[in-house]
Amino acid sequence: MYWVFPGRWYLVVFITIIGEVTSHKIAIVGGGIGGTSNAFFLQQLLKDKAQIKIFERGDVGGRLREMQIGGRSYDSGGSIIHSDNFYARALTEKVGLKVRNLDKGGGTGFYDGKEFVLKLTGSTFKDKFKVLGRYGFGIRNIVKDAEMMLKTFKRIYCLQSKKVAFKSTAELLNSTSPDFLKRAQVSMRQSLKTLGVSELIQNELIAAAMHTNYNQELDVNAFVGFVSLAGGLVGDLWRVEEGNFRLPQELVKATGVEVVKSKVRSILPSSRGTGYTVTYTLSGDTEDFETEDFDAVVLATPLHNADLQLPDKVDVAKNTKPFQRTIATFVNGILAPVVPGQENPEDILTVWSKEDLFFSSIGFKGSATPDFNYKIFSKTPLTGEQIGKLFSKVNEVKSVDWKAYPKYSVPDTLPDFELAPGLFYINAIESAASAIEMSCIGSKNVALLLFQYLENVENVDFKTVCRQQDLIKFKEEL
Ligand SMILES: Cc1cc2nc3c(=O)[nH]c(=O)nc-3n(C[C@H](O)[C@H](O)[C@H](O)COP(=O)(O)OP(=O)(O)OC[C@H]3O[C@@H](n4cnc5c(N)ncnc54)[C@H](O)[C@@H]3O)c2cc1C
Repeated sequence: MYWVFPGRWYLVVFITIIGEVTSHKIAIVGGGIGGTSNAFFLQQLLKDKAQIKIFERGDVGGRLREMQIGGRSYDSGGSIIHSDNFYARALTEKVGLKVRNLDKGGGTGFYDGKEFVLKLTGSTFKDKFKVLGRYGFGIRNIVKDAEMMLKTFKRIYCLQSKKVAFKSTAELLNSTSPDFLKRAQVSMRQSLKTLGVSELIQNELIAAAMHTNYNQELDVNAFVGFVSLAGGLVGDLWRVEEGNFRLPQELVKATGVEVVKSKVRSILPSSRGTGYTVTYTLSGDTEDFETEDFDAVVLATPLHNADLQLPDKVDVAKNTKPFQRTIATFVNGILAPVVPGQENPEDILTVWSKEDLFFSSIGFKGSATPDFNYKIFSKTPLTGEQIGKLFSKVNEVKSVDWKAYPKYSVPDTLPDFELAPGLFYINAIESAASAIEMSCIGSKNVALLLFQYLENVENVDFKTVCRQQDLIKFKEEL
């Protein structure tokens, strides 16, 4: 028996050493779609070597959150996803949730504060004539441009499948098309002028898309502007049938990663000489904190809102952007005619206006208990008087005050994905455009950067892969 014992002992030591050498401790700060999809992508790349912990100070989901009103449930944050958003769809299917395509609805009115300058019916055929009648053929340039943008941006999926990673948002945009990088540095208005788009189209159709998607005007950068337009002009829209907020929750279950419900206070270089020490607050008491060392840390939250200390060498100013406040107000009741004597269309979008418009859009959400549900976006909380002006009957009002997306302006610096060796920032990508899919693309990019960093793997030169012929053959697979 004597010889068995030392043999087993050596085996235990051997496994322990191998385990320590190969596994990587990774902290993800933020349990929104960015952080939870990052855990998924990291497990795909690092397999059993990834030891991941997500730190989340609120609820898993972040800006994907449920709102219940009138006996029904809605997404109060990110609610609509484009048919070309490959990661959002693939992850939804992977975790066993269902994709629900959105129909064109019962019509959209473009409101200038006094009247509807255009009313669309929801019928593609009829609406084409209405749009051509008001705006002429100038609209075709924008549709073509949006189609081209969507097609070109898909290159990112091919590049990421070949494990190409980018250290900055500027590099990522440039790899899909140098034109995208240029667009991120000019205003939407300037870009539309260059395309020869009339002021009428800019102030009505385009302004309405910017108001409803980003609660901002045409001074946003032209990249986010066209992302916003593409949603309305090209392709179809969908959402997760069970609610978009379920996607991050199901990703946590699918990956089995531990979620620590706690606020991270600081991420500082570890005294070990490598990696980072994460200090996090326990049970909301700022004096009561704990520390843990990690080989690498992923920031999966916008820095402006994270309230945490980072290593001195991180350029915090470059990577922190002001955010746009958007209030999502849900009302159960009956909407009065917005234009007296006229029936309301299902969706009411606002165009550029001299009038003092206190809302950006109103969406009809359907029958509920009792009466109907509506969702209103505005820049400031709606007062009782304003709600009383809009509704002939009010049963219930609920709202969420969001720091929703960056306040876009040009010229702007584009943040970095790599803040310091082993410290990565998914939400850098939001400065180009904020959307569920953009967080997934940023998350995949950071997972690839981390994989290269931890496994000492060389990056792939993006110019050598995904040429035109590869893109034709390329099959998107998760
Ligand atoms: C009103 C609104 C409407 C939108 N509409 C759409 C839409 O229709 N389609 C679309 O694609 N996108 C939409 N978006 C944008 C989309 O929701 C976001 O881009 C996306 O959800 C961002 O996900 P994220 O994981 O990157 O960040 P977040 O969801 O913000 O997650 C960050 C998480 O980090 C946590 N956190 C922050 N600091 C700390 C800390 N110190 N310690 C621990 N945890 C911390 C936060 O609590 C949060 O849960 C909308 C957003 C809003 C607000």
